[in-house]
Amino acid sequence: MKARISLAIALSALFSLSVAAQEVTLTRLDCGSGQNDPRRFTDTFAYTELTRPFTFSCYVVRRGSDVMVWDVGYLPGSVPSANNKPLADLLKQINVNAEDVKFVGISHFHADHTGQLAPLKNATLLIGKGDWDGITATPPMGGANVKGFAEWIAEKRKVEPLTGDKDVFGDGSVMILRSPGHTPGHSLLLVRLKEMGPVLLSGDAVHFRENYELEGVPSFNYDRAQTIASIQRMKQIEKNLKATVIIQHDPRDIGKLPAFPAAAK
Ligand SMILES: [Zn+2]
Repeated sequence: MKARISLAIALSALFSLSVAAQEVTLTRLDCGSGQNDPRRFTDTFAYTELTRPFTFSCYVVRRGSDVMVWDVGYLPGSVPSANNKPLADLLKQINVNAEDVKFVGISHFHADHTGQLAPLKNATLLIGKGDWDGITATPPMGGANVKGFAEWIAEKRKVEPLTGDKDVFGDGSVMILRSPGHTPGHSLLLVRLKEMGPVLLSGDAVHFRENYELEGVPSFNYDRAQTIASIQRMKQIEKNLKATVIIQHDPRDIGKLPAFPAAAK
């Protein structure tokens, strides 16, 4: 009996140790900023202003010693909106070597999310199958930034094309959620933090708050009905989990996370 009790104590101590070792944190990296024409982001003529500030965000999720990057921004120098400080340098500022990144999740195949995959040599690429198929098709699907995936394809790096949701670490702490519409394989990222609670990163399921609230659809999206269904999925998750929704391109959402290099916990 005594032995059984001490075994239980030892096991629970081990369990709490492993939980303590696997704290999850979320950091936002500045991957650029610029202006965009909001009229492109409505197929119902909802906006009349000519420009609106856009931000380009990349994220780092750490779980214990494992590192995942979510979206990798524009390639520096490729467009005026790109941040000229490379992603690998930003990672170094938070003591992460690009080669040590275990997973890179990509919301979708557009150039402003896929420009800096090259330095993440040893990561497994997690991407919706609809987008991976679009990149690897002959000819590639319109809007797919094939150049961003050049090393991945040439060097046969690890890739897992996702047909559904993906529980990245198998414990529900970090989940890639299928949300097609903007592109055929678009995904969201749900990160469950101990102090801040669940955080839902939008990818480009929506580009700014008004389109989230009014379920607005950009005229260039892949599928209108899927877009609206994905926005509704986001809203239900926000409600059910009391999640913080972060719209990656909306500068008004930057302040929802601590300023770099600090991390949300
Ligand atoms: Zn985008």
